[in-house]
Amino acid sequence: MKITILGAAGGEVTGSAYLVETQQARLLVDCGLFQGGRRADDLNRSPFVASAAQLDAVLLTHAHLDHTGRLPLLAQAGFSGPIFATPATIEMTGLILRDSGKIQAQDAERANRKRLHADDAPFKPLYSVADVEKILLQLKPVPYVDLVSVAPGIHVRFIEAGHMLGSASIQLFVDDNGVRRQVVFSGDIGPKGALILRDAETFSHADMVFLESTYGDRDHRPFANTVDEFVEALKQAVAERGKVLVPTFAVGRAQLLTTLMAWIFRKKLVDPFPVFLDSPMAIEASRIYARHSELFDEEMVAFLKERPLAQDLTTMKMTATQEESKQINDVPGPCLVMAAAGMCNAGRILHHLRNNLAKAETHLIVVGFQSYGTLGRLLVDGAIEVTIFGQRIPVKARVHTLGGFSAHAGQSDLLSWFASLAPSKPRVVLTHGEDRARSALSSLLTQRHGLTPLLPALGETCEL
Ligand SMILES: [Zn+2]
Repeated sequence: MKITILGAAGGEVTGSAYLVETQQARLLVDCGLFQGGRRADDLNRSPFVASAAQLDAVLLTHAHLDHTGRLPLLAQAGFSGPIFATPATIEMTGLILRDSGKIQAQDAERANRKRLHADDAPFKPLYSVADVEKILLQLKPVPYVDLVSVAPGIHVRFIEAGHMLGSASIQLFVDDNGVRRQVVFSGDIGPKGALILRDAETFSHADMVFLESTYGDRDHRPFANTVDEFVEALKQAVAERGKVLVPTFAVGRAQLLTTLMAWIFRKKLVDPFPVFLDSPMAIEASRIYARHSELFDEEMVAFLKERPLAQDLTTMKMTATQEESKQINDVPGPCLVMAAAGMCNAGRILHHLRNNLAKAETHLIVVGFQSYGTLGRLLVDGAIEVTIFGQRIPVKARVHTLGGFSAHAGQSDLLSWFASLAPSKPRVVLTHGEDRARSALSSLLTQRHGLTPLLPALGETCEL
């Protein structure tokens, strides 16, 4: 059998996709979008899998766009087979891909408005909303743990990965004309002890492992310390009657922070004050989380059993419409506003930043990774003035950068996840990591287990 790496390789973290081929079957594991800049755009538009219509199946580790965002291209190519995922991943994929389809259409419309004066060919969106709806009909639920047949000679088992609601690591049991092999795809692995979700589970045997390496070179600050810093920032804001702005990704981080606010109010660490979840997508994602309490860890179940979150969050408001969002301007501090985008490069957070960055009593709390070139990165790096909607804004607000709310395992957690697989001496392929991260993890795997991991290039094929 052979496995070709069609994304998240060569030092990239986006575009996760693998083509698995045996003598009897062909399937994809993940089908993610490349994200960030022109090169990503070019990669998304280049054909990535031959005869897509003849694939037997697709397996999804989780719903994030960098693992699902090229699925609608399969619909365009005529693929009509099953896409296997956990039930929660199916719901989240619907939310994320519909949003992606909408953004593609808006971007294309904007680009074409600019091009009307030139003689350029019209800009076509990568895919349409119809492609999205078509592919969503092909999603098939797979329960965790059960062994499921997905293609001729291939059974799979999904287990908890602790990274986002529904996330899984996948083990393939392949019978290729009598030759039996086990291949593990880690997917994205969550940190141990995070709020809400259960910790990642592990496997005991594999002939080959595809391991993510996002934070292969470092550990995060401990979660408890990050919570202390967060509470400290809230206390300052309350004392100064300032607004607390938190740029958040709609899925995952927003639900973590909502739960954390309930916990802070319940433990009386800070007296309740107004909290706004100012993102229609985050509001919908929160509903999906609430429907899947069967995936919560023991602490979360006990916390909810004590009393529902809503009883601690009587001061919280979900602002779905733009009108409601605008009204937040008139709410005096202290209050907390969670809004997308997570890197301050788009979305409603821009309006809140424009209106509040120049005030000394404002606190900006940055809880996620900020890519180079984004407004979020400029603010984290201490810019004294920024431009938002063409307007120059002096930055008087306090900026807090908190490192411990990551949805990814740090280096130690990755190593301990791999430890149970090490005795079976699998071949290890490190993906989904920048060069520094995957090299550091590779050296540690060599030191500890005597293995020589492969750091693949995009398009590289591994034979087994
Ligand atoms: Zn992810």
